[in-house]
Amino acid sequence: MPVSDYIPVIGLEIHSELLTKSKVFCTCSAEFGGDKNSRCCPVCSGLPGTLPIINQTAVEYAVKAGYALGCSINKFSVFDRKNYFYPDLPKAYQISQLNLPLCINGTVPIDYEENGEKKHKEIRINRIHLEEDAGKLIHDDLNGVSLADYNRCGIPLIEIVTEPDLSSPEEARTLVEKISLLLQYAGVSDCKMEQGSIRCDVNISLMKPTDKEFGTRAEIKNLNSLKSIYRTVEYEIKRQARLLDRGEKIVQETRRFDDNKGETRTMRTKEDAHDYKYFPDPDIRQVNFTDEDLSRIRNSLPEMPYERLEKYTGKLSIPEKEARIIVNNKRLSDLFEDALKCYNNPKSLVNFIIGEIMRRMNLGEIDIEKPMFTAELMAKLVEMSDTEKVTKSDAKEIFREMAEKGGDPEDIAKREGMIIENDTGKVLEVIDSVIAGNEKAVNQYKSGDVKVFGFLMGQCSKALRGAATPKVIKEELEKKLKSLT
Ligand code: ADP
Ligand code: MG
Ligand code: ZN
Repeated sequence: MPVSDYIPVIGLEIHSELLTKSKVFCTCSAEFGGDKNSRCCPVCSGLPGTLPIINQTAVEYAVKAGYALGCSINKFSVFDRKNYFYPDLPKAYQISQLNLPLCINGTVPIDYEENGEKKHKEIRINRIHLEEDAGKLIHDDLNGVSLADYNRCGIPLIEIVTEPDLSSPEEARTLVEKISLLLQYAGVSDCKMEQGSIRCDVNISLMKPTDKEFGTRAEIKNLNSLKSIYRTVEYEIKRQARLLDRGEKIVQETRRFDDNKGETRTMRTKEDAHDYKYFPDPDIRQVNFTDEDLSRIRNSLPEMPYERLEKYTGKLSIPEKEARIIVNNKRLSDLFEDALKCYNNPKSLVNFIIGEIMRRMNLGEIDIEKPMFTAELMAKLVEMSDTEKVTKSDAKEIFREMAEKGGDPEDIAKREGMIIENDTGKVLEVIDSVIAGNEKAVNQYKSGDVKVFGFLMGQCSKALRGAATPKVIKEELEKKLKSLT
């Protein structure tokens, strides 16, 4: 039967590093990068006899993530050892959570477009647990050896497990994007896919409309871009449909996505929970929250995207489409919020952000993670343009320099002679000389041929060369000509 007749069943396991200063069970720096093995200590490099101490901030961040994804929080939570032997994990077990994770039963709404249709769906979150990240292996092909960098070992990680509620590549992609956004707004993770701070495993099976139970699934590990998530789901649906069509069985296994070939390949047949021989970690204190703890953490959650969207489309009267564009990028939304404090003109700022900033972001001229301009100076520029202190096209020129090198728009405009002075004395002087020098045209105007106004206006604008706005020149010229007739 055609691929479209199978119902895809998809669940995600999303790993996201938490933005704490130190690691989850020791005081080593949790920052990304650093010289290899420079951010390690006896605890995170797994030396015997060391004692891990849990980082309270990491626990609170995980709970915040739970609230951001609509979860209930377990007041009593336990850490377990997940045993596996692989050189990226020097202890030979990972401290994780099995039966009593910090957060359970959430929901994340997603909005997306598929086949030109607007869709909305609520995706259930099964659980969020806190664990430690593993190190990185560097495979040196030249010398045929593998080296381990343990800087990432012990960085706090949350694993978000969804119910198998997704059914298309677009839904999977949208959910990961939405969860990233919520975690960024909650302030618990920066979700930089290219740095691996959010990674995703995709579980997929197919069923026929008449089936009563889910089919056998494959798990594709460690996807680190939205595009590869989309392509993996797309590929895997086709692969499984082909096998099922031929009457073959799907093997439950772990697969890897090859970005270059655009296909998935077998990594290992799937292990079950009992293969990991989980047991409660005797070194880690259990978590016991009071109601006060939980309400304090919940109240510390900053303004979330849905709240901003409501504010933008409501109080600020921004059209929904534009409001969504801004809200869906936390950096832009923060920039907008800060700019509003300096120049309270939401519409104008939104137009500038979408028309100029995003355009230059797409051209690769602006890195919104570390822009060269501040919200305050951007707001100042938009105000200068709105109040016609500079022309719209000069404002774009000024912003080009601000985006590239920074600087105050007023200084740049002055340096470049772009400030429109609107000095009435000067305008009148120019008008007088234009009138004196164009007797014929002026007489035509006086005799009722108002068409020549445009010509006279043009002469004045040329002579003033941007020193006054068209509006002011027009007003003054009209006044003057009327006084002559
Ligand atoms: P495990 O413990 O083996 O990792 P889980 O029950 O924790 O399995 O599920 C892992 C992920 O796989 C979840 O996101 C879940 O929604 C998804 N999943 C479970 N069964 C199926 C299935 N038959 N098809 C697709 N996804 C599934
Ligand atoms: Mg799992
Ligand atoms: Zn350490």
